[in-house]
Amino acid sequence: MPVKVNFGWKALRERKDALKSFGKKVVVFTGRRSSKENGSLDDLTNVLEEFGIGYTVWDEVPENPDFQSLEKALKDVGEENFDFVVGLGGGSPMDFAKAMAVLLINKDLSPEDLYKGAYEKALPVVAIPTTSGTGSEVTQYSVLTDREGNKRGFGSDLIFPKVSFVDPRYTLFMNEDITLTTGLDALCHAVEGFMSKRATPISDIFALEAVKKISEFLPKVLEDLKNERHRENMMMASLMAGIVISQTGTTVAHALGYPLTTEKGVRHGLATAVTLVEVLKVMSEEAEEKVKEILKPFGGIEGLRRFLRDLGAYKKVEISQDDIERWAEKASKARHIQFSPGNFSKETIVKIYTSLKEEYLV
Ligand code: NAP
Ligand code: ZN
Repeated sequence: MPVKVNFGWKALRERKDALKSFGKKVVVFTGRRSSKENGSLDDLTNVLEEFGIGYTVWDEVPENPDFQSLEKALKDVGEENFDFVVGLGGGSPMDFAKAMAVLLINKDLSPEDLYKGAYEKALPVVAIPTTSGTGSEVTQYSVLTDREGNKRGFGSDLIFPKVSFVDPRYTLFMNEDITLTTGLDALCHAVEGFMSKRATPISDIFALEAVKKISEFLPKVLEDLKNERHRENMMMASLMAGIVISQTGTTVAHALGYPLTTEKGVRHGLATAVTLVEVLKVMSEEAEEKVKEILKPFGGIEGLRRFLRDLGAYKKVEISQDDIERWAEKASKARHIQFSPGNFSKETIVKIYTSLKEEYLV
């Protein structure tokens, strides 16, 4: 994990010199509102102005960014020559910036080509998260929505951010909904990374610590959204969980959650988390001890279910038998399966979705 991480309150101001070396012209990708409200865009532009770095802000990154929005951005700013890109916001703007870092410097590529890996350069990426969930500030992944409406990630070492500034202050502005969904995303990264067949002794240390922190501080921060200590702990947990998936990738829970986001509008972290209990049950058939170990802070699988239920993770969503069949067909072919312990056949996945439908979803 080669990212130079600057973690802490006022990270940008305190470590502003880390921005000096990338050149004189930058394009900043961010969302519509939040980076203006939480002070992060001002922090950034103040430093850029101080250093005489010219900037363009493209602030139309949608949630779950799609190919069409990449093309819109290319049309708007693609003619200019930039030295580096900044992704400022939640996972959506950070992932968007990573994709644009490739597209802006390989002018003949389309969004589809990002998945083919036929490129050898990307502009340097700087990541500044304003949510504590995705860990995109320390990963080589970018998750986009393709033209058919599928969420698909691509990975390349070229898009690892060079530098990230991780300031918990920006997350003080998240409301309860965003706090919950992003915190659960981080939990899924840590648990799935720990369970992944690609887990390492080192990634496991980070995963265990992240789960411990989230089990304690997610309920606390949801009770007290402006609490700085709780926010800092969640930001650190999300960062640690990001480091985990930079080594392991995610597993089948992420693949199962994607259609709940793209077709039913359930936010990414919640969509993944509601599948986690059933996924872990299947995983424990092959890796019982590991499941027990990572769920110790919750007291096991049923404890995790209670934790999620008490936080209000299980929202009502309409899903039909037809949805289940289609989603299971797709998920059973996802790459995530090969790194997930347990037998995730199409039948097993149908059962998982069906039990969700019976228990939580309409
Ligand atoms: P997001 O989609 O980036 O943002 C969700 C909402 O939160 C937006 O409305 C955004 O507003 C708002 N928001 C962001 N920061 C805020 C703040 N500080 N205060 C108040 N509101 C704020 O959410 P996310 O959960 O961070 O990212 C999810 C995306 O990341 C998904 O596409 C997911 O697939 C991807 N992901 C990527 C990785 C990876 O490794 N690359 C890992 C997991 C997930 P604005 O629109 O105004 O900014
Ligand atoms: Zn995720």
